[in-house]
Amino acid sequence: MPRLLMVGGGLFGSQAAAYARRRGIEALVFDAGLPGAASPAAAGLFKEAWAGKKLRHHFDRALPILDQLYGIRHVDLTHDDGSKETFLFVPPTAILEPTPIRQTVTAVGDGWLEAGGERHEGWVYIAAGIWCETFHAGLGVYGKAGAAYVFAGEREGRLRPISHGRQSIAFVRDAGMTHISDGTAERVYLLEHDQQTLDRAASLGLTQPPIQRLWGQRPYTPGGPVFLKIGQRTWLATGGRKMGTILGASFAQLLVDEELLR
Ligand SMILES: Cc1cc2nc3c(=O)[nH]c(=O)nc-3n(C[C@H](O)[C@H](O)[C@H](O)COP(=O)(O)OP(=O)(O)OC[C@H]3O[C@@H](n4cnc5c(N)ncnc54)[C@H](O)[C@@H]3O)c2cc1C
Repeated sequence: MPRLLMVGGGLFGSQAAAYARRRGIEALVFDAGLPGAASPAAAGLFKEAWAGKKLRHHFDRALPILDQLYGIRHVDLTHDDGSKETFLFVPPTAILEPTPIRQTVTAVGDGWLEAGGERHEGWVYIAAGIWCETFHAGLGVYGKAGAAYVFAGEREGRLRPISHGRQSIAFVRDAGMTHISDGTAERVYLLEHDQQTLDRAASLGLTQPPIQRLWGQRPYTPGGPVFLKIGQRTWLATGGRKMGTILGASFAQLLVDEELLR
């Protein structure tokens, strides 16, 4: 059986690698560690309502995969009026390939890729986020940037709506720290966006200097997320927008069970 070669070790590439290994396929993940990758910034939250009707089938397909691979957690967030809302959650730190091959993939063909001056043969999955366009022109993929901030110490989970479908969320994503993101998603990201996010953090009581800024570009594709077979042994997926956790899992299942092991 061929190996599976991943171009990109974000939520898409890492979940495909983990699921492939679970199904007995050897998987190698190449990730150049590019600044602006979306996945390290992600809160890792998801909800059925976020998927809506259009992406509901992805949500349904993703849940068992996420649960099998990492275990789905629940996080309770408190509104200003004291009411609670529960979100589903898998921290990206549990998903992201811990030791990817830190090489830039310089070329991809059908069933091979080149990295570090070497050619590797196998099934190829291009999961390169906003950089997918480099390997397959015409997707129209673009980034919408946002920053999350991390503060020392564990605080109670908080949620405050900002506008329709957008909210500030502060919660313990990783032990010992509080992570806040506010849904900022800008094609042209300015310093003032950082300040707005920090102001929202302060209004939720996170006033000390953050210990980390996580800035990432969510991949968007016109018409919605894409999963494409672009050769006999080559696939590509991107467009995770604000739902990379469930879309990455759904596409991992599609790739492995319905394409590779069919
Ligand atoms: C602030 C913020 C909060 C978010 N919160 C959530 C959330 O709560 N829930 C949720 O589901 N989603 C969330 N998202 C969205 C989610 O992060 C994205 O949808 C998802 O991470 C996209 O994953 P990806 O693997 O497609 O892309 P990326 O994470 O960008 O990964 C692509 C990878 O490819 C690598 N790469 C690119 N080109 C090459 C090359 N030539 N050679 C080798 N490697 C290469 C890059 O280094 C990168 O690591 C959030 C995003 C942001 C920015």
